[in-house]
Amino acid sequence: MLDLKICPRCGDRADVPLVEADRLVCRVCGQRWEFRRLPLFALTGPSGGGKSTVGPELARRLAGEAVVLEQDVLWTGALRDDAGEVDGHPRFRSTWLRMAAMIHQNGRPVVLCGTVVPPEFEPLPERVFFSSIHYLALVAEPDVLATRLRARPAWREWDEPRIAETLEFNDWLRTEAPRMSPPVRLFDTTHATRDEAAEHAVAWFRELSPRDAAATRAPRTGSTAARPAHSP
Ligand SMILES: [Zn+2]
Repeated sequence: MLDLKICPRCGDRADVPLVEADRLVCRVCGQRWEFRRLPLFALTGPSGGGKSTVGPELARRLAGEAVVLEQDVLWTGALRDDAGEVDGHPRFRSTWLRMAAMIHQNGRPVVLCGTVVPPEFEPLPERVFFSSIHYLALVAEPDVLATRLRARPAWREWDEPRIAETLEFNDWLRTEAPRMSPPVRLFDTTHATRDEAAEHAVAWFRELSPRDAAATRAPRTGSTAARPAHSP
């Protein structure tokens, strides 16, 4: 199954997937199967920090090495219906982890561009699909961030209360980043060009990605994956 939550043997869909010794384990039938457990890369930060400028450049520079995706494309319909009910939009976040893990089975790590912090990903059941999640936040000085947001087109609806909220998040992130679990790395884009920010993000990815993701724990055909759990 491409969807790692579904057992390839009995078809059970796990609400809380189980990984033991780098294999997925079905709680219902006991089936154990190999999968590619790659790191996920979250390029985060407040709006105006530079994610959407760096994202396309990152896709170009990491073509063939990574799959660079924009988080906001799934900010739609039922996935954001839990807004206001619980913090952190777990339905939206879980869907992204499930999607990224499925893409990982093709052998390349995902770089997800969008605002997120470790407390929103780390407690989720789908976190077990990844060896680690690395966070790089693009931040800026408050006055520069505000100027960037005020310059955005009217349809994006950046009014002053929303700008103030973003500045508060930016401040909080810059203070708390090193204390989060795992720590969030910061890159200040106040005086950086798009190329400098992209170069920094590429270096971050290459430092932390597996040397050959395609060869990392590529599931073998046959062998343990196909053996029924109750065979003698
Ligand atoms: Zn099963």
